Amino acid sequence: MNVSTPAKFIDARPRAEKRAAISAEVRLRTTLSFYKYVKINDPVAFRLALLTKLTALGCLGRIYVAPEGINAQMNVPTENFVALDAWLQAVPELIGVPYKIAVAEKDFSSFYKLTIKVKGKIVADGLDDASFDVTNTGAYLTAADINDYIDDPDAVVVDMRNAYESEIGHFAGAILPDVDTFREELAVTPELLKIHKNQKVALYCTGGIRCEKASAWLKHKGFTDVRHLKGGIIDYAHQVKEQGLPNKFLGSNFVFDERLGERVGADIISHCHLCQREKSDCHYHCQNQICHVLYLGCDGCVAKYHGYCSRFCALSDKAPVAIKKIYARYYNRYFRPAQFRKAQLRPTPVV
Ligand SMILES: [Zn+2]
Ligand SMILES: [Zn+2]
Repeated sequence: MNVSTPAKFIDARPRAEKRAAISAEVRLRTTLSFYKYVKINDPVAFRLALLTKLTALGCLGRIYVAPEGINAQMNVPTENFVALDAWLQAVPELIGVPYKIAVAEKDFSSFYKLTIKVKGKIVADGLDDASFDVTNTGAYLTAADINDYIDDPDAVVVDMRNAYESEIGHFAGAILPDVDTFREELAVTPELLKIHKNQKVALYCTGGIRCEKASAWLKHKGFTDVRHLKGGIIDYAHQVKEQGLPNKFLGSNFVFDERLGERVGADIISHCHLCQREKSDCHYHCQNQICHVLYLGCDGCVAKYHGYCSRFCALSDKAPVAIKKIYARYYNRYFRPAQFRKAQLRPTPVV
């Protein structure tokens, strides 16, 4: 490497090392998420103010700011939570914004850096917001309400998340669309649910943000009774605990941070993609950056393949850079191991 080249700093340390560094630096962190659809006149200035304050408080996470609002997944050193709360609640656009605090506080960080991006939208939904009334959202459901929906044969419960999220955890009896993105989800659900157009429809997602848009979209598409779970699965888990309600969520809640999953039910409902035998709700990315496929792995397989999705990926990762560059171009078409074709990567979840 030419030392005079100004190198962009990329933290290429193994995940375990980054984890150790973060946990050594601060003892305990609180993981929280929040969102708000609110008009932000100057997202660039808003981002800068946020970045300055959050950096000073030692926060880590991923935050999107757009003219339509804010969407944040982050953590804060637990001793700074009160200061963070006071500052956020003093920002005019964020007054009263509710936080969802993760159920489990782990001994390692949920994020390794702080990224705040200005975007066109806070959730990529592919919709033209001018073509329908985005404020005509469905009424909210509490945890007790959605439990009633699950027991009601005349009601349908729909998972508004992607297939890799619902695979490791979902509500009993929910409809689980086989999609990879929220954009795709919005495109297929009106057709998928058309026989339920005049029934009670309950939507849910991780923290509630996707359902704000999805409920307005389905109402626009002619669904008469659409409601959604307030605060999503994260808040459901809290309410179940606090109110002593029966937990009807099976498995884990997929969360978009380094933890990837947060167990809500006591059970594991999904299987390892490598041996397709052992139960697992632990997602990993293949260590081979050309592949990087998201897979579920059991402890035995993760150790056996050293974090790669297959022996092929482990071997090809050792090839010289020049060869890797060529094969990266054709990877998806010719080299991706057969067991990770779309259908097999996401087996039908057991309800
Ligand atoms: Zn396995
Ligand atoms: Zn791989």
